[in-house]
Amino acid sequence: MRKRLVAGNWKMHKTPSEARQWFRELIAQLPPTQAEPALLVPFTHLPYASEVLEGHGVSWGAQDVSAHPEGAYTGEVSARMLADLACKYTIVGHSERRSYHAESDALVAEKARRLLEQGITPILCVGEPLHVREAGEHVEYTLRQLEGSLEGVNPPSASHLVIAYEPVWAIGTGKTATPEDAEAMHRAIRGWLIARYGSGFAEELRILYGGSVKPDNATALFSQPNIDGGLVGGASLKLGDYLQLLTA
Ligand code: PEP
Repeated sequence: MRKRLVAGNWKMHKTPSEARQWFRELIAQLPPTQAEPALLVPFTHLPYASEVLEGHGVSWGAQDVSAHPEGAYTGEVSARMLADLACKYTIVGHSERRSYHAESDALVAEKARRLLEQGITPILCVGEPLHVREAGEHVEYTLRQLEGSLEGVNPPSASHLVIAYEPVWAIGTGKTATPEDAEAMHRAIRGWLIARYGSGFAEELRILYGGSVKPDNATALFSQPNIDGGLVGGASLKLGDYLQLLTA
């Protein structure tokens, strides 16, 4: 039985003090849920996440990490720094990093390896742009991206890796993949993971859907057999919406 994960990607929103207040309100209102809540926040918010969320069943982490372990890399943040702030998860390969920062599959794999060395679970994002979907090549494209981004990535167990399928045309656009289309891709991803890591491992590994998940579409998406929760941008910024997603 895979525990559903509802991971909020805050992107570059809220100040650290706004975040601290939001975390306090979240834990005061946390509903009974079978899902695991997690918040992927800007680096500056992480000390407050560890201070306020610790012991309340909410996980936290960052949205990116350096591919280098340590050294003269101005502006970068290492996996060891994230581990010191008790990050459980960190996103790698989000489409915004792939497109605005030209991150390649090889770089994403390097970042995933750095996280695993520090015991942090990568949430690895893959997904096709619109022209690829329209050409009907989305499965091949996404599996190729998965293969490149997992080069040399050997998690010690299925709980040490999360895949997020995020069709680029659905991120922040209000357009969502239908539950059937999303499920078809998740099934293909799981099939690829079975071939790569074996069926016991792949059946335990969580595959999240991301792309305009909202309270009114989450239940239909999350009830698909291979969709194990969501990576949620916009709707994770509003406390009321995020609380609804946790019980969807
Ligand atoms: C995301 O940031 O990964 C995302 C899916 O954003 P949104 O939910 O706003 O589409």
